[in-house]
Amino acid sequence: MDKKRYERPVIIKQYSGLMNKFGSSPVTKPMTEIDGIPIRRMVDEYGSPLFVFSEKKIRENYRKMYRLFKTRYPKVQFSWSYKTNYMNAVCSVFHQEGALAEVVSGYEYDRARRLGVEGRNIIFNGPDKNTASLERAIKESAKIHIDHFDELFEIIELTEKMNADVDVAIRVNMDTGIYPKWDRFGFNYENGEAMDAIKRIIKNPRLHLTGLHTHIGTYIMSADPYRVAASKLVNLANEIYKQYNIVLDYIDMGGGIPSNNTLKGQYLQAEQILPSLEDFADAITSPMFDLEMPHDELPTLYLENGRSLIDDAGYLISSVIANKRLSDGKRAVIIDAGVNYLFTSHWFNHKIVPGQQSGEFTENSAVYGPLCMNIDCLRENIVIPSFKKGDLVVILYVGAYSVTQWMQFITLRPNVIMVMEDGETELIRENENIEYINSLEKVPEILKNFSL
Ligand SMILES: *Cc1c(COP(=O)(O)O)cnc(C)c1O
Repeated sequence: MDKKRYERPVIIKQYSGLMNKFGSSPVTKPMTEIDGIPIRRMVDEYGSPLFVFSEKKIRENYRKMYRLFKTRYPKVQFSWSYKTNYMNAVCSVFHQEGALAEVVSGYEYDRARRLGVEGRNIIFNGPDKNTASLERAIKESAKIHIDHFDELFEIIELTEKMNADVDVAIRVNMDTGIYPKWDRFGFNYENGEAMDAIKRIIKNPRLHLTGLHTHIGTYIMSADPYRVAASKLVNLANEIYKQYNIVLDYIDMGGGIPSNNTLKGQYLQAEQILPSLEDFADAITSPMFDLEMPHDELPTLYLENGRSLIDDAGYLISSVIANKRLSDGKRAVIIDAGVNYLFTSHWFNHKIVPGQQSGEFTENSAVYGPLCMNIDCLRENIVIPSFKKGDLVVILYVGAYSVTQWMQFITLRPNVIMVMEDGETELIRENENIEYINSLEKVPEILKNFSL
């Protein structure tokens, strides 16, 4: 018999409360409760993994952001970006706070209407508004933000066919100093396309130009591009006022303000490098004071912030399935939530913290999800304490774009709950089961029998 190969034992540096170069201990504090409710209790009741949203945090975020803008410019209206998180309960909290609905497809439009939002309180954005949804939006007096000339021409045709008038705005893209430029949505400012679209709208007796819109990108890491963008929309609004004596109802500056989730490849934590919300509010509101119309007719400032209002109000609780040593000695932890629930983990190093008090020794580890796929890695490297099977971890900043972009892949999607302000927990989306998934499938008759 061959002698077994000798494998070198590994010696790994253990960190315990040492100062790192930022002066603080690398030991992450465990998170054992959310808004006072023990996470273990939530998992016992609703299963693992489990998405949790905090009603309190959503309302706090909204009110804080609203105050920042409202104290800088007198007329402000927020609009909730459905694609960021269109869970009905989440949208309802935003609507209770006073946000309109901002949708980017016929499906999202439908969701808003079914939730009870009237057409006139829906902002209809996006490059793909099909004929049926445009017709409906015109009939229901939604705020249609036109993306391109083909859409403008279709709206003109539809209003003739329907013998209807319609209020419209256009989406404008511009050079804001961010490259590559986001010029695929809307009409360009610099080359005169936006003004061209504006003229065509103004010349048409059925179309009424009521607003200008831009959304310069997402997770914008500097406030300056907003200042540039707001100045350019203000210039357009002033031109429209001077040339046609039209006072716009609103200027919509879109969303894109970052949350504190940290991008992959970003050396420092997001909190340490991002401008403050005050900086963003200053950049957006300052140019508004160059508007030349009379003060009592100033357009309302619309904002469509998504991720900055919801990301830190969402948590994903997950259980440890196993511990492993990789062949090079590195520790790996397998948890029961994978990239199928966290599409955002392709771009972000989500913060992951222990869900219970754990030992004080920490070690650089990989965190893998449960999928039998190499891509299912939540963190390549994270310094965390050791876990036992069944221990809980909490993944942070999962409120934005997770429960809209998640996939039903290999496993079924889990329960989603909301911790209410009164301390109760409510199920807001039930976990999927095989009956639900299979109910959409059909097997051709000829394939129904097999014998193995
Ligand atoms: C996605 C989107 C938003 C929200 O963007 P965030 O980066 O989540 O703030 C707002 N407006 C439009 C038009 C969008 O497409």
